Amino acid sequence: MSEQKIALVTGANKGIGYEIAAGLGALGWMVGMGARDQERREAAVAKLRAAGVDAFSVPLDVTDDASVTEAARLIGERGGRLDVLVNNAGTTGNAPQMPTTVDVETVRAAVETNVIGVIRVTNAMLPLLRRSASPRIVNMSSSVGSLTLQTTPGAEVGPISAAYSPSKTFLNAVTVQYAKELRDTDILINAGCPGYCATDLNGFRGVRTPAQGAAIAIQLATLPDDGPTGHFFDDAGEVAW
Ligand code: NAP
Repeated sequence: MSEQKIALVTGANKGIGYEIAAGLGALGWMVGMGARDQERREAAVAKLRAAGVDAFSVPLDVTDDASVTEAARLIGERGGRLDVLVNNAGTTGNAPQMPTTVDVETVRAAVETNVIGVIRVTNAMLPLLRRSASPRIVNMSSSVGSLTLQTTPGAEVGPISAAYSPSKTFLNAVTVQYAKELRDTDILINAGCPGYCATDLNGFRGVRTPAQGAAIAIQLATLPDDGPTGHFFDDAGEVAW
């Protein structure tokens, strides 16, 4: 029997992250569910455990060094390694986000969670990922972060935003740099776009279900060893950076 895989999903207590955890759990994987809000996190873990998933709770604030260090210790204690990291936690930040009037703190907060948080968590988990036979990192991005789409007349890229969209562009750029540095390792790192899903993030205005949004992350989390690295995908295939 093959060894049980272990994954960490950040922002797993609701929305798309919860469904990513459910999907990986349904494959028989052990899933660490990371998020800040304790009550929501414990409820999410209990719900998945009741459904037969080997889920466990990971108190995690991606903006906090000590919290991330402790999360890495907890994962190490569970499995001694990490097979998959899904950097899903994210925030749109406060409104309004028109570039000419935005509060710089709004920009800072989006970048702190959506970019620096990803770097902080990834680097803390790398020693554990390096112990996996097939390590995968999935960064949940968004097509609104695509500069190609943002500059294509008529493309659907949401409202003008000086914080959220650029934070995902930054995340995409960081994903490419990780892929370049890790090119000669077994680690595959890619960005995924879930599509416009009905979650708290957008006041449930999205047109897809969180489970539909989770599908691309699950696909990138389970790539074969000869799979791509340093690319950006949605359900329809490759997304232009
Ligand atoms: P959501 O329902 O608002 O969930 C966001 C998750 O992130 C929650 O679990 C939240 O938990 C966690 N989180 C936020 N800040 C955190 C922090 N500092 N540390 C740890 N966890 C944190 O959003 P969602 O729609 O599922 O979004 C998931 C990802 O998909 C995000 O990266 C988002 O940008 C991306 N995305 C979503 C859509 C969409 O249409 N929904 C489209 C494109 C991309 P706590 O608050 O308890 O910490």
